[in-house]
Amino acid sequence: MMISAKTREQVRLRANYACEFCGVTETDTGGELTIDHFQPLAKGGNDDPDNLIYCCHRCNQYKQDYWQSSQNDPALWNPRLEPSNVHFLEAEDGTIHPLTQTGSFTIKRLRLNRPPLVAFRLRRKHRDEEIRLLTRYQEIVKLLTQLDTQLSLVTDEQRQLLEEQRELLRLLLGRRI
Ligand SMILES: [Zn+2]
Repeated sequence: MMISAKTREQVRLRANYACEFCGVTETDTGGELTIDHFQPLAKGGNDDPDNLIYCCHRCNQYKQDYWQSSQNDPALWNPRLEPSNVHFLEAEDGTIHPLTQTGSFTIKRLRLNRPPLVAFRLRRKHRDEEIRLLTRYQEIVKLLTQLDTQLSLVTDEQRQLLEEQRELLRLLLGRRI
């Protein structure tokens, strides 16, 4: 049975237009991604949205119709059931490392450290860092503006005090004469 256009849209939106396995988006790849049956149809899966995963062409190609048929088979990470940080740790250099057996198997099966993906993660890291620095920069500019306002208030007060002092001095001197 074909997946309806409505279900397809629902799966796309739910995944925020990104591959649920590796994170690349439609914008990164320049086109729509594929819909993967986590439990393949050939192995008893169905078109239930819970069994559908928004998936880039590469991840889909590497996953093929893998399914853990028995307890002896390694389990593949199901992004619909668990967040990625349960099974993977992302290193500073953009590679990911397994935290569990499932993580280890999934990295190998889906080639999650393929060079373009590592480059993609590094680029994302740099962008996040740039956003962080820009936000900090904006905070500092805001603080400087506040300080400037406070300083000009203090200067005004100082001027006023000086005026009063001068007036007092004038009065005092006036009395003496
Ligand atoms: Zn992918």
